[in-house]
Amino acid sequence: MSIQVFGMAVSRGVAIGRAVLVASSRVDVAHYFVSADQVEAEIERLRAARNEVAAELTALKADLPAEAPTELSALLDVHLMLLHDDSLSGATKQWILERHYNAEWALSAQLEVLARQFDEMEDEYLRERKADIEQVVERVLQALGRHAGDGAAGFRKAGLTRDFGGEEPLVLVANDVAPADMLQFKRSVFTGFVTDVGGTNSHTAIVARSMDIPAVVGAREASRLVRQDDWIVIDGDAGVVVVNPSQIVLEEYRFRQRQSELERARLHRLRNTPAVTLDGHAIELLANIEMPADAAAAVDSGAVGIGLFRSEFLFMNRGDDLPGEDEQFEAYRDAVQAMKGLPVTIRTVDIGADKPLDRLTTAELRHEHVLNPALGLRAIRWSLSEPGMFRQQLRAILRASAFGKVRILIPMVAHMSEVRLTLEALARARQQLDDAGKAYGRVELGAMIEVPAAALRVESFLRHFDFVSIGTNDLIQYALAIDRADESVSHLYDPWHPAVLQLIAHTIGAANNAGRGVSVCGEMAGDPVFTDLLLAMGLRSFSMHPSRMASVKQRVLRADTRRLAGALPRVLEADDCATACAEWMAGPSLAPAPRS
Ligand code: PEP
Ligand code: MG
Repeated sequence: MSIQVFGMAVSRGVAIGRAVLVASSRVDVAHYFVSADQVEAEIERLRAARNEVAAELTALKADLPAEAPTELSALLDVHLMLLHDDSLSGATKQWILERHYNAEWALSAQLEVLARQFDEMEDEYLRERKADIEQVVERVLQALGRHAGDGAAGFRKAGLTRDFGGEEPLVLVANDVAPADMLQFKRSVFTGFVTDVGGTNSHTAIVARSMDIPAVVGAREASRLVRQDDWIVIDGDAGVVVVNPSQIVLEEYRFRQRQSELERARLHRLRNTPAVTLDGHAIELLANIEMPADAAAAVDSGAVGIGLFRSEFLFMNRGDDLPGEDEQFEAYRDAVQAMKGLPVTIRTVDIGADKPLDRLTTAELRHEHVLNPALGLRAIRWSLSEPGMFRQQLRAILRASAFGKVRILIPMVAHMSEVRLTLEALARARQQLDDAGKAYGRVELGAMIEVPAAALRVESFLRHFDFVSIGTNDLIQYALAIDRADESVSHLYDPWHPAVLQLIAHTIGAANNAGRGVSVCGEMAGDPVFTDLLLAMGLRSFSMHPSRMASVKQRVLRADTRRLAGALPRVLEADDCATACAEWMAGPSLAPAPRS
């Protein structure tokens, strides 16, 4: 039976494929395809791991002290029985044989199927046996880790490449995916994503968007309603997931898929066209990246530089092995060199909130950790609390500036004391490099304006920085007190709120008056719906995911800033979001073009 699940659209387009359900806790399990001639060896690897676990369980049983409760021995028998049961071992083998999944992926895919069956059991005692099967699978996964296969360097190292898999496209369905894990899905086998939780501007959604593949988040029930291997359609424009679509629906979506591919190809042709408005303003279109390797996509999109390199992604999922100065320097230098003389704006780590160092999902953070992580120790607050690491990062960035144009961007400043401490840290980092005889170039220093207090007092900040960059994702979150990662309040997360628009307009105006650079690097910059509005406010520099560049450029090429500016005051003075939006949509086209 076909069903529809509604969520939030985060990345455009239509994906059609078979669902791969991945438990949030197992997203980091190795996922890769094995070639036809490796299938037998992979099954053998699974068999060896299973035998090892069987031996482990048998030894545990034999070593039970005489006084141990009899239930313990019975439990080990149950685990042994589950281990050999065909519904686990036979079916896992089938995933390897038919789909060419590696053993870990096959095992976790089958666990999802079985867990579902247990959840649906009437009998409470039987339902609780799900925990046993999870424990058995956990043991086998650990044993597989000890018998790594050819490609089993792990999900993080092997990546989710699809050199050998079948022809059918795959889409990922999960309750939640941590931002750093989502990053691992870049260049993956998946052609679309659905998650149960998350807001449209959560970092998980932002990374999904940067991959430019259709995605829906906050689809609440999706991972419960979709079954392993179901055919599903992800409508990334409408935020809808269709499970087991009928033939007619499928045809309609295939048609839309082809249309949107044609549209993308058409827009891509704009990449070498300079972004100049009808009235002659040159607009700087920059790219947001998460990893140095993303710089290639930035160049290909026609970006004239990197406006935001989210350096924290280098630090996530690393356990205790955080990148040192040299490793960071190499990453920054790679990005700088890939941009061939174009400027690269490196943001110092923005760890915290929904981007913890370890791989916790939003749901886990919510339930287990800090009460209000978005208001806690994140971004510059975190860096200033770790002065040694902060200076190490500053030294690495400074050293990369010897290879091209580099700008440093400080996230989440709100207090002048943070500015003072940052300037001191930078001076000290330079001094340390001088003492060590290491080369560095001239860097500009910028502040992210993403806390309302900073936007309201931006004039004071502008005295200490060369430029500012408006982080609208957080500015909206903090101005409206809406957790950007919480789908239950995402209907209130509205960029059209007049208070938000006033903060943005004020910041742009103040920076322009002070003769300082100003750009927007939040998601609003990459949404063509807001291009005209930001131009009307006086913005001339936008930073966005490379995938957004062409549609924003198309808006720029059709814009007349004189005409647009005339409609701005009414929008800023509107009473609510709906009125502001309606005023804007009606305004610019009705306002007569001023005579020049
Ligand atoms: C923002 O807040 O708008 C921004 C660009 O930073 P991030 O999304 O990484 O918090
Ligand atoms: Mg931010």
